[in-house]
Amino acid sequence: MYISDKFDSGNIRVVELNDPQNIQLEIKHDNQSEFFQWFHFRFEGPLEQQYRFSLLNAGQSAYAKGWQGYQVVASYDREEWFRIDTDFDGEQLHFSLLLEQPSVYFAYFAPYSYERHQDLLHTMQQDYQVNLTTLGQTLDGRDMSLLSVGDVENAKHKVWVIARQHPGETMAEWFVEGLLGNLLDQDNPLAMKLLEDTVFYVVPNMNPDGSVRGHLRTNAVGANLNREWQNPTLERSPEVFLVREKMLELGGDLFLDIHGDEDLPYNFVAGCEGIPSYDERHKLLEDTFKEAFMAISPDFQDTHGYAKDEPGQANLTIAAAWLGEQFKTLSYTIEMPFKDNADMPDEAFGWSPERAMQLGCDVLFPIKQTLAKL
Ligand SMILES: [Zn+2]
Repeated sequence: MYISDKFDSGNIRVVELNDPQNIQLEIKHDNQSEFFQWFHFRFEGPLEQQYRFSLLNAGQSAYAKGWQGYQVVASYDREEWFRIDTDFDGEQLHFSLLLEQPSVYFAYFAPYSYERHQDLLHTMQQDYQVNLTTLGQTLDGRDMSLLSVGDVENAKHKVWVIARQHPGETMAEWFVEGLLGNLLDQDNPLAMKLLEDTVFYVVPNMNPDGSVRGHLRTNAVGANLNREWQNPTLERSPEVFLVREKMLELGGDLFLDIHGDEDLPYNFVAGCEGIPSYDERHKLLEDTFKEAFMAISPDFQDTHGYAKDEPGQANLTIAAAWLGEQFKTLSYTIEMPFKDNADMPDEAFGWSPERAMQLGCDVLFPIKQTLAKL
């Protein structure tokens, strides 16, 4: 038997690898951080045997509740990620598989690789409506890349979409891939109409270092980027610093920050009700967005979500809150599940890249309806 995590977004530590029925593993912490939950590794062993794996430290991970009702994803071809039998006993996460090919990958959610990220940027840049800009570099020296879609000079509205501040939330970049594909579909009248007067600024990956390092939640030096929006620095959080500077330079009328949630098996939004400037107008924009999103996608709902902030109690270090306050406009965090959508479960795949991409396609409609209210 053999286990490796020496690849893009790999994360596992082998504790014991002798008994196929009791393979003991641990998830590594994010660098200079207490957070951990993302795992991703490759396993090799004799065929047609049943193997049982245990993540010994699952119970101490960032969101231990997230393991309840969760199923690990596995893949033989690194394209189709199927769910396997998984059980959390309160301390350890156990999962088992009958091996049908010599080598198999396991992960917390279908990975979105740094290579695919580059492919996405360079496929998109070929469209005449798209511009690819490098804003600067991360602490590991990777590029912070921004795509603009639409008429930068003359657009009436500016929409910002950022994703994967938390690098283990790979569904966020799958969502963005779906959104961009739909926006540039020249047979889609809704997208064509939107681009008549709106420009989209999209950062598909806010945290490329954390992504490649196999982190759950932080960048190369352990900064949780979604707590850096009030005072980002080039030393600790250049990713936020660079994007935030560009936002301040260009302005924006609608902001979406795309995430995944470890615990809740639903798609939902977290809004700005706790920011100092929240008012009736802001509420109208939020309600318009949610109603339109529910109208177009049965995968989106507004029953289950986070507790709403009390007035004035928002944490302004969080992107959505800081942006909502700074630009006095709609600013939502969109959350997707690691588990599944409990309203429309999929036994074989759970919440998947395909469903995340579809939700990204569908978000154009609530964007359009909300812009009409500005
Ligand atoms: Zn997140």
